[in-house]
Amino acid sequence: MSNFKRVINIIPLTSVNLGSTQIFTYLVPLNLHDHLRPGQLVRVPFGGRRLILGLVSSVEMHRLPKEAKGLKEVTELIGATPVLTEKHIALANWIAKYYVTPLGLVVKAMLPKFVKKNKDPQITGYEKFNPDYILTDYQKNAVSEITRALGSPSTILLHGITGSGKTEVYMQVIERVLFAGKQVIILVPEISLTTQAIERFARRFGIERIALLHSKLRDSERLFMWQKIWENEKQIIIGPRSAVFAPVQDLGLIIMDEEHDPSFKQYDQHPKYHAREVAGKLSELWICPLILGDATPSITSYFNVASNIDQASMSRGETGGKSILLTLPHRIMADVGLPKVRVVDMRKELAAKNFSIFSEALKAEMIMKLKQNKQIILFLNRRGSATFIMCRDCAYVSTCEHCQVPLVYHLTTQSLVCHHCARNYDIPTACPACGGARIKYFGIGTEAVEEGLKKFLKEELKDKELPLIVRMDRDSTAVAGAHKQIYDDWTAGRTRILIGTQMISKGWDVSRVGLVGIITADTILHLPDYRSNERTFQMLTQVAGRAGRGSDPGVVVLQTYNPENFAIQAAKLHDYQGFFAREIEVRKKFGYPPFTRLIKLVFSHPDREKALALSERAVNLLRQEGSPGIEIIGPIPSFIMRLRGRFRFQVILKSVANVDFDFYPLLAKLADADIDIDPESLL
Ligand code: ADP
Ligand code: ZN
Repeated sequence: MSNFKRVINIIPLTSVNLGSTQIFTYLVPLNLHDHLRPGQLVRVPFGGRRLILGLVSSVEMHRLPKEAKGLKEVTELIGATPVLTEKHIALANWIAKYYVTPLGLVVKAMLPKFVKKNKDPQITGYEKFNPDYILTDYQKNAVSEITRALGSPSTILLHGITGSGKTEVYMQVIERVLFAGKQVIILVPEISLTTQAIERFARRFGIERIALLHSKLRDSERLFMWQKIWENEKQIIIGPRSAVFAPVQDLGLIIMDEEHDPSFKQYDQHPKYHAREVAGKLSELWICPLILGDATPSITSYFNVASNIDQASMSRGETGGKSILLTLPHRIMADVGLPKVRVVDMRKELAAKNFSIFSEALKAEMIMKLKQNKQIILFLNRRGSATFIMCRDCAYVSTCEHCQVPLVYHLTTQSLVCHHCARNYDIPTACPACGGARIKYFGIGTEAVEEGLKKFLKEELKDKELPLIVRMDRDSTAVAGAHKQIYDDWTAGRTRILIGTQMISKGWDVSRVGLVGIITADTILHLPDYRSNERTFQMLTQVAGRAGRGSDPGVVVLQTYNPENFAIQAAKLHDYQGFFAREIEVRKKFGYPPFTRLIKLVFSHPDREKALALSERAVNLLRQEGSPGIEIIGPIPSFIMRLRGRFRFQVILKSVANVDFDFYPLLAKLADADIDIDPESLL
């Protein structure tokens, strides 16, 4: 007996070089022989004298001959109960492989901080209420299809415009899942995680069954929720992307609302995961459906579901995940039509010597709606930073001669860079198309809109009092309580004009909105990103969906320098299918996702030359070891070339031939790269 020692596998909760093993073997001291289980936390010596946390990944306690040298011993066991289930450990392994991230960092991201005391955040004040709707035929169909899929790892795309009754469908299905004693995860975009959005779920199911996870929770409160979920005392988990890691014990359903929203991708720290992909894996592990609900599904999701349906119909009877596409084509309040969208050509405004931010049409609508006592939203895109150069006279946009994509204006280098082929261009002083001198970078801020608006209204209303105008952006909401104040002013109808970015989220009362003015639809259209059309379409459709609830369909005035663009045209007609059909052709023709996969690598260093050298070294290595099916683009300076004192260069990889190419072994060799798989933006 004493000839053998027991050993165990452990994931150290730290960043381990990707090239080396991520799971380490330790000796088990005698006193722990019968106490170790997968998912438990232990303390282990790691790298020199450091003691760190580790997670027991598996406990086949091998017996090793005693000459197994160099192995260190587990120092102590922290708490008898595991903190991750075996399914979650499997999930962590998958994430680490797919996103090429140290396994220990993934596990760390899945765990709360184990602070000394937990604390109940004590959310109360929701009266229970059951509305007893009679479902529409579409809703009935959706509920029964989803119900049939319960217990299988299906992906269900619920495509329905705002107000078409998707949430009601979720509710009805959730009821069935809860009845079976299982848990539900509801993922929502960061922005719609307001108490208002939670209210409906709380009123239907009772707040005591709901675990709300959001960024404002304290560590102690998060730990409280985490434990309640673990003990299955909370069955409905609502939160942004990280809620996908909720420590469920018996998961029956995952819902992802507004699945196209970019906040579902973590971009600022590792693991750089997309909650949709993780949720897909989760649904496989728990053998339960994943519902993607959206008015404007991402091109990739729609394509995947549509093409899987084709495959499934060819090979029926196979087990495994299937795809289901469900549609809710009408608004519940059938008498409320969709808003009329008026597209205004801003080039004509210029030609008519209107140099204001507002077109004549928008001005006239604003005055009218103020008279009618309606509320107005003026929308600006948050990503409207000055990335491109445009001629204000003829709307010419500087594009790459080789790639046709808009060039990116780099402030730091004062040059134009093509983010697709890395070519550099000088900034033109006159417009290459019309010779005009009014060629400049493009971008309007919320302050400028507010100023312009006040000036216009002062002239228009003469000495009458100005209506309440509220700006909602990062600055105006930075103060504690500001958000609530803006919400209250809006809901009470005090605010007449709201200027902002993607602000108005689910749960805001928009029944009095008579007009949505989109200051410029072009800011995202000219982002040098293959998703520009998609983002433009989604943004316009979602914003337009804010108008026209209540008794009046409302008006949308959409200002653009590109009225003929198909994303804008499709948004005008509320035509998702039409948009999808054109966009998927573009993706296919130019080799973009979902037909290829993209990876962004960023190399940074306090010294510019060193950063460049790192990126060039990586490119050389990739050229030597890469597969012929992989295109390498760069290095080019990153759009934000200097961040926190470090210069940054980026390289884009594009897998052309094989979308399922396993990048892990290749990328693991790039010790200096910051790796982003399926990046949300190429900027
Ligand atoms: P979505 O989630 O697609 O935006 P909702 O589920 O929020 O749509 O439905 C829009 C509105 O219609 C909500 O106020 C909701 O309570 C109501 N509603 C949903 N289904 C029905 C129904 N079958 N009968 C009557 N009202 C309904
Ligand atoms: Zn180019």
